[in-house]
Amino acid sequence: MGCAPHNGRVRILLVEDDPSVAASSLDGLRGLGFETEHVGTGQAALDVVTGGGTVPDVVLLDLGLPDIDGQEVCRRIRATSEVPIIVVSARGDEVDRVIALELGADDYLVKPYGMRELAARVRAVLRRTQTPASAPPPGAQQIGRLVIDRRAQRVHLDGQEISLTAKEFDVLSYLAEDPGAVRRRTEILEHVWEGHWYGATKTVDAHVAAIRKKLGDPGWVEAVRGVGFRMGAPEHA
Ligand code: CA
Repeated sequence: MGCAPHNGRVRILLVEDDPSVAASSLDGLRGLGFETEHVGTGQAALDVVTGGGTVPDVVLLDLGLPDIDGQEVCRRIRATSEVPIIVVSARGDEVDRVIALELGADDYLVKPYGMRELAARVRAVLRRTQTPASAPPPGAQQIGRLVIDRRAQRVHLDGQEISLTAKEFDVLSYLAEDPGAVRRRTEILEHVWEGHWYGATKTVDAHVAAIRKKLGDPGWVEAVRGVGFRMGAPEHA
């Protein structure tokens, strides 16, 4: 997946050996609100992208470079990184275009290009490669429309955050460890309250009622008569 732009500022790595082309491109890109970094060789581009530092959001890669051919640079970047690559070349023939895309480039621009066209291509590539906002974060559990992120202690339903208390979250998280499996009230108490609890098992019922209300559907947490509760998924989940 591509790196999401930070605070809306997209970082572009320009790989261009011609100083005058580079200068005008950098001017134009900055004028359009992009953050820029510039290198003049293929090796320097590889160092930036695969060197373990901050990876740019988009690589703008000239094919005609003094050290390593741009196509080879593209292939090597793609071997280790999903960063979006827009290949730029003075060679406008169909063969180059096809080769660039086969090497893993996301788009292709022919020199001379206008800044508006470049900006449009950059935004289009970012739209295609970015993780959708609704996708669950890595490690989060998805049950139908429900996403439980234990690392961040957050729950989202249809992409909207559901505000749960710490204990409500723990109850839901525990039941969701094994959807469909029945947990007895005493098991839930022991797991969530860890023995610091001396009251009635009705505490569990109260928390389940609150969770159901917040999730807007009792089907998420099903009562199993005389036993306890299990994580369900409403029909339309
Ligand atoms: Ca060049």
